[in-house]
Amino acid sequence: MTDPLSWLDGALADLDRRDLRRTLLMRESPQRGDRIELGGRTLANFGSNDYLGLACDERLRRAVTESVENRGWGSGASPLVTGRGSLHADLEIELARFEGTEAALLFSTGFAANVGAITSLVGSEDIIFSDAKNHASIIDGCRLSGAQIQIYKHGDVDDLRQSLAVSRHRRKLIVTDTLFSMDGDIAPLPHVAELAREHGAMLLVDEAHATGVFGNEGRGVCEHLGVENDVHIRVGTLSKGLGSIGGFVAGSQALIGWLANRARPYVFSTAMPEVMAAAGSAAIQAVRDEPFRRQELLQRAAALRETLKSHGLHIGSSKSQIIPVFLGSPGKTMQAAADLRQAGFFVPGIRPPSVPEGESLLRISLSWLHQPAQLESLANTLRQVLAT
Ligand code: PMP
Repeated sequence: MTDPLSWLDGALADLDRRDLRRTLLMRESPQRGDRIELGGRTLANFGSNDYLGLACDERLRRAVTESVENRGWGSGASPLVTGRGSLHADLEIELARFEGTEAALLFSTGFAANVGAITSLVGSEDIIFSDAKNHASIIDGCRLSGAQIQIYKHGDVDDLRQSLAVSRHRRKLIVTDTLFSMDGDIAPLPHVAELAREHGAMLLVDEAHATGVFGNEGRGVCEHLGVENDVHIRVGTLSKGLGSIGGFVAGSQALIGWLANRARPYVFSTAMPEVMAAAGSAAIQAVRDEPFRRQELLQRAAALRETLKSHGLHIGSSKSQIIPVFLGSPGKTMQAAADLRQAGFFVPGIRPPSVPEGESLLRISLSWLHQPAQLESLANTLRQVLAT
């Protein structure tokens, strides 16, 4: 009898042939936004989403160790049964206060928050308008919802307007990342919000990469662009700028009440351990107390973008701490990533299916922990590596 899984060898060999096979990395050091130990070597780390340098922060560590003493570890059940404890509830109140919304709901991950929110809001009689470069968790939420999916060209308000004009569905939902995870560019939210208003559409935005980083108070791109009141459903994650784990949705009491009843990843999955919520609360406090982290990060990112452009590198429309260097083919991208690693820099190469065919890129992710000298050295090394 042949092994029913034998097709996997061929499928993996095919990935190898196309330079698309991923290998598992193992970080030997603790997570830090600026340096990483891999294969026995310490490298400058440009691959982490620990934008504010909080993943290793003393205050978060203390919050976790103190709360684990009092509250234990596992949560034992889904939130609606007995899994939701006082630390979860505290964080939800904290998140709502931070976001300036009536309420917030905590999910185990940002991925679950997107899937849960989207599938609860629309169904087979409805339509979703989704930016072409939205994150995989939004795409999966859209697919699972059973609604018609209309993908509009990336950041293209005219394309969105045209699609909205011809829709006659029961409910309309516009969904977009605010800060795109690979290109580092920003959605045209004021225009998108205006279209949502004109067409009576619900507007869901994903602030995953912007929370803690953008906006005077660190609430994200909606705050930065002054559109917070136009957004009905705000999705965020604690796993990036906030250096922790867990996703959330912030919005009206009615929205949160509905999601608690209908969002399947919330209803049918064990609550995250409470100590993780303690870390999230400490991280929000750090964002409030230390605006200089986000301010300095964005200043340094702007300076690095200018330097890379002056070196002739193609960084697209990045406006943030996520800076892509577009190289096109997976082979060229992975070779450049290997050369950088040899020179002491970890910069992940990103290939399809994470990005469209022909748009493979090096994704430089900055952290507040990076020293200006490290950034200068990265820019010079990139120039050398890409010149060969
Ligand atoms: N949204 C976006 C835009 C993301 O980039 C990610 C993570 N890569 C998520 C959602 C999922 O968040 P989490 O990692 O907390 O599941």
